[in-house]
This record gives sequence, structure tokens and C-alpha cells, in this order.
Amino acid sequence: MQKILLIEDESAIADTVIYALETEGFQARRYSLGREALAALQGGNQYSLLILDVGLPDSNGFDLCKQIRRFSEIPIIFLTARNEEIDRIVGLEIGADDYMSKPFSPRELAARVKVILKRTQSQAPTQSTSEFVIDEARATISYFGQTLNLTRYELLILKLLLQQPERVYSRQQIMDAVWSEPETSLERAVDTHIKTLRTKLKEINPEGEPIKTHRGLGYSISGRASES
Ligand code: CA
Repeated sequence: MQKILLIEDESAIADTVIYALETEGFQARRYSLGREALAALQGGNQYSLLILDVGLPDSNGFDLCKQIRRFSEIPIIFLTARNEEIDRIVGLEIGADDYMSKPFSPRELAARVKVILKRTQSQAPTQSTSEFVIDEARATISYFGQTLNLTRYELLILKLLLQQPERVYSRQQIMDAVWSEPETSLERAVDTHIKTLRTKLKEINPEGEPIKTHRGLGYSISGRASES
């Protein structure tokens, strides 16, 4: 049975998360303090994934994450209560695998835990070729050797998905990362850009369907990207 470590100081939230995880067949252990998390991880306990609240009584989840990353590659999902924290997580400077902003659905969190564990435990054997090549200087992406003719949003969405193939991004996460004023747009705008993006990818490779829809969760991409 896979063990999940939860660091959350609010008992009401922790209880619903533990219930959702156990319903999905996980074993969960919860602590309220950052130093307890460090001790648990350093103590040789075999946890498969860490769910980490950013605002803890004795520490900040970001600092804790940096400390943990010095000795562990454990997948980390942040729980965050503030929008300004999302900017740092989305910027991926932290080394987290995903985040949920409060209030969130514990069932969705449990679903994301499953997706991440599946991804990290079945890391695809490396292939020598990349379907996608990102040219930062020209702000273009090519697919099977052909440059895609993309709008700004399509380009940014595709780049985001390619940062972490197989990772599921919610519509809100895509908007947070790509839109300059996400609050003024509707989530279905993301669907519209994904749709046109798929059409353009299909023109080049009719057999491929690299962008996947995960019902109720969001989108992911499969395929490898390299930089030119
Ligand atoms: Ca908290």
C-alpha cells in the first residue's frame, strides 16, 4: 500500500484529505509542523508522495520544499491559500509537481495524487527523438520537423504542457501560467485554444493525438520536447 505524507495544520482540511486518500486505497500520515515532515522523511519512512501546505505554524512550505529537495526526489503537491503563492509555484522555481488552491476538492486532490504516482513510477524509457522542438529565440515550436503556425496563446499553452509531459494541468492552472489577466477570462477560452492547437498538430501528423483530455481535471501532453 502506498503511503502519502500530509503536512497540514488545519484539522478540518486534513481530515477530508485523509478520507479521500483512504477511499482511493492510500495510507495517509498527517503532521501539522514542518519539522515533523522533515523528521518523517529523513527517518527512512517510505512515503510515495508528499502533500504540503504552504502556510505552516513553524515554517513556510516553500523553504521546506527546498530543504527536502536536497535529499529527496519525492513528488510534492502544494496546498495553497493565496493567489500570490500560485505565481511562485507556476513559475516552477520551487520544484513541486503540482498544486491545489484552497478551497479545493479532496477527491480531485486524490485523483491528482494517482496521476502523479502513475507518471513518476512509470517514467517512460528514453527515446532518442523528440517530436517537439522549442526554439526560444524565434518563439516557435516545431512538430515532427515542421514549424507550427501558432497564435500567442496556442504557443504559450503548448510550451507549458511540454514543460512536464504527462502532467495534468487544470484549466485554471493553464490560465494562471499563460494569461496576463486570468481573472478576466473564462476557463472555456482554454478549451477553444486547445481545440485549434489540436487541429494544427493533426495537420502535420493525422495519426497523433498528443494532447489528452482528463475529464474533470484538465489537459496533459504526451511526447518529448527538446530545445533547438
Ligand atoms: Ca495552513
